[in-house]
This record gives sequence, structure tokens and C-alpha cells, in this order.
Amino acid sequence: MDLGASIQGRHVLVTGASSGLGRHFAELCARHGARVTVAARRRDRLETLVEDLRRLGAAGAAALDLDVSDAASVTAALEEAEREAPLDILVNNAGIAESRPALDVEEDLYDAVVDTNLKGVWLCSTGAARIWRDAKRPGVIVNIASILGFGVTGSVSVYAATKAAVVQMTAAHALEWARFGIRVNALAPGYIATEMNAAFFESDPGLAMIRRIPTRRLGQPEDLDGPFLLLATDASRWMTGSCITVDGGHLVSAL
Ligand code: NDP
Repeated sequence: MDLGASIQGRHVLVTGASSGLGRHFAELCARHGARVTVAARRRDRLETLVEDLRRLGAAGAAALDLDVSDAASVTAALEEAEREAPLDILVNNAGIAESRPALDVEEDLYDAVVDTNLKGVWLCSTGAARIWRDAKRPGVIVNIASILGFGVTGSVSVYAATKAAVVQMTAAHALEWARFGIRVNALAPGYIATEMNAAFFESDPGLAMIRRIPTRRLGQPEDLDGPFLLLATDASRWMTGSCITVDGGHLVSAL
């Protein structure tokens, strides 16, 4: 099965697409001819991305203002996306991490991480599922979790807890929405090289972490392409409630 072909013409909404993996997933979908709607808070970055998506071959491209932690913003964004074209696939990618020890996390920061990573997934998923259920249309949700939903390291206690919750929410939503033809799965990436973590992975602790990955390298965004397309397309038509780890073996590293 050609995974690219099966996303062609589908309308994909990617949250948190103004940078990093979200931008990468949006470009991947565009290269395979999907209609792509990108959403985040930094609208200026999205406008530039929309031009790129059209050049890459998207069947259509649009940008939306979206704060995933705000119910009114999520409702407005989903309605606008539906007006563009009926939505087929939601990618819950928006996320933030705290990078500081648990004892230094203030309540505001805790709230921001939980509201973005967990409440955001809940708001976007339930919003999209209501649209699909009411319209009697099938739908696909891909949640971007993390290997930190399964294992822990220092200075990401709240982040890790939210990602574990996203894995469990994926299963719970899959169970409830299978009857509506809505599939919900998650992708749990390991450490992926991005601009934001480049300095850390050149430092001694960063290099030590890479040595603990069995494949001895960081992931590249492209390493996620196959598993992402699998979950986003009919290639995974009998999968729901699953979480696929893509981490070069990091979670199975020796004790
Ligand atoms: P980035 O910081 O590059 O991107 C995060 C994106 O989320 C930005 O586009 C940001 O856009 C958006 N965002 C943040 N808060 C909100 C909000 N309230 N509403 C809407 N959008 C928001 O991070 P990554 O690309 O690295 O991470 C993307 C996802 O992948 C996250 O869920 C992360 O947990 C996950 N992940 C990343 C890994 C990695 O190694 N990079 C590994 C495992 C998982 P804006 O500020 O414009 O709103």
C-alpha cells in the first residue's frame, strides 16, 4: 500500500505546526498531496509555512490561530478548518516542556504544561470527534506523545506525566469512539534532533545520553515519517488505541 497515496486529498489539521515536528509533519503531508491546515499561536510563522506547503504540493493549505489550552480558541479553529473543507485527520502535536527540577516548578508553569499537553489534546480531540460523530463521518486522530510517557529523566516531571496521560487518553478515546468510526492512536518519539535541543546534545550530558541509545544516535524528524503515515492513513485501518514508540531503542537500553 502506498501510504502517501492514501493521504492524498485528505484534510489534515496539525496543531503546533509553527516549528519543529509539527512543521515537519505538515510538510510531509503536503509532499504527499494532502490538504493541510496548520495551527498555532505564532501566526506570522504559519503564513510563511502555508506558502511552502503549496510549493511542496499540498492540495490546499491554510493557517489558523490556535491556542490549544483555550476552549473558545479550539472551537473557533475547528469550525474554521471544517469551513475550508471537511476535516479527515487531526494531529495533536502542540506541546511544551518545563526543563527544570520538580522542586523549581511553580504553579503557573505546571498549569501551562498540563493545559497545553493534556487539556489541549482533550479539547482538540473531543471537538473533532463531536464534529465527526454529528456528521456521521469517520475520523483519524494521531496524538504525539513521547518516550517520556513511559520512562523518566530529570527536569521533566510534569511533561513526563502529561505524556503518560496522553497515552492513556489515546486508549480511552479509542475505546469510546470506535463505534463512530473514529480511530485514535499515538506516536511516542524518542529524542529527535531539533534546533532547540542542538546545544544540549553537544554538551557532555547530552553526548552521554546519546551513548545510552542502543542505535547511538539521535532521531531525525524524517525517522518518524513511516510510523506517522501509518497512523494517519488507512494502512492502520484496524489499529486504534495503539501507541508506537520510535526511539532507536532508547526505551530498551540496558540497565
Ligand atoms: P517545538 O517547541 O519546536 O514546537 C512546539 C509547537 O507547539 C510550536 O509550534 C508551538 O507553537 C506549539 N504550541 C505550544 N503551545 C501551544 C498552544 N498553547 N497552542 C497551540 N500551539 C502551541 O517542539 P517539538 O517540535 O520538539 O515538539 C512537538 C511535539 O513533539 C510536542 O508535543 C513534543 O512533546 C513532542 N515530542 C518532541 C520530541 C523531540 O525530541 N523534539 C520527542 C518526543 C515528543 P506556538 O508557540 O506558535 O503556539
